[in-house]
Amino acid sequence: MSVLTTIEEIRAKARDGLAEVRNDAELETWRVAVMGRKSPLMSALRSLGKLGPEERKEAGRAANLLKTQLDQALEEKRETLGRARIEETETAGRIDVTLPARPLPEGRLHPVTQTQRDIVDAFVAQGFSVIEGPEVELEYYNFEALRIPADHPARELMDTFYIDRSGDTDSKLLLRTHTSPNQIRFMENNDPPVRIICPGRTYRNEATDPSHEWMITQTEVLAVDEGLTLAHLKGTLFELAKRLFGRDRKVRFRCDFFRFVEPGVDMAIDCFLCGGKGCRTCKKEGWIEILGAGMVHPEILANMGYDPDIYTGFAAGLGVERIAMLRYGVDDIRHFYENDLRFLRQF
Ligand SMILES: [Zn+2]
Repeated sequence: MSVLTTIEEIRAKARDGLAEVRNDAELETWRVAVMGRKSPLMSALRSLGKLGPEERKEAGRAANLLKTQLDQALEEKRETLGRARIEETETAGRIDVTLPARPLPEGRLHPVTQTQRDIVDAFVAQGFSVIEGPEVELEYYNFEALRIPADHPARELMDTFYIDRSGDTDSKLLLRTHTSPNQIRFMENNDPPVRIICPGRTYRNEATDPSHEWMITQTEVLAVDEGLTLAHLKGTLFELAKRLFGRDRKVRFRCDFFRFVEPGVDMAIDCFLCGGKGCRTCKKEGWIEILGAGMVHPEILANMGYDPDIYTGFAAGLGVERIAMLRYGVDDIRHFYENDLRFLRQF
């Protein structure tokens, strides 16, 4: 077999072998097999000396050309493998920014808290400060100081939970039935003018039904200053109604009776669902009562050391759950405190 034929065979084999190479180790094995000292190519080069001058010249050229080509192919393959390795590393560490994000569990405010905050904002915007006080209260602040003596029938309507303190009957402790005690505490320690709201939980000892809970959230409002009139009360509460139920609301005030105000009023808004025509929410009335209010009874001012001949004041009380029920169309107050996430996640 001629040397030239051998060289062609070596070339073909080397080419096929190189195509199979997948990594650096295989490339080295290929190099040793094709160009190493014991390779067919080296043997062919060593055997050139045995040939005649013409044949040697031609075969020598072909063998050297092949060696150059193989060196070049080796270099190219080495580079290709290197690039592939870099790409592989990059791909492995790459972040796919097109992947959709995993949703994080999202908390939200309780609907009563949301409404409470809106109420607070409406008054803070009108210059009121927020005052908080104890939920376990002295009987005096909850009743007597607010003109509800021990033998008064209003006590029955406000039956609450008493804290058992055996032997100590002078200062009974109870869970407050309204946040009005905060107003008394505030007036005891501050001179007029007063502009405060008292948000917080209050308690009644009663059976629950769709419109009654034993714990409800209240916000009580108190303003005392020289020259305050029912007009100030109406203006302040009208602004609240518009913020809670829409700017185009109308309000209606009617006489009502509460122990600690004189005169007392209830405030209603025109029904925001039917526009006053009458529907289920407004019980066909066209109006919805949302709070009670009035001018602070002069006796209470006097008890607090405010001269009722100089100062007048107005007060209002809101049931926050009731407002929230109206705003969100909730038909049972008990839903708020059953901790049913299917209910709470709607807000
Ligand atoms: Zn209506």
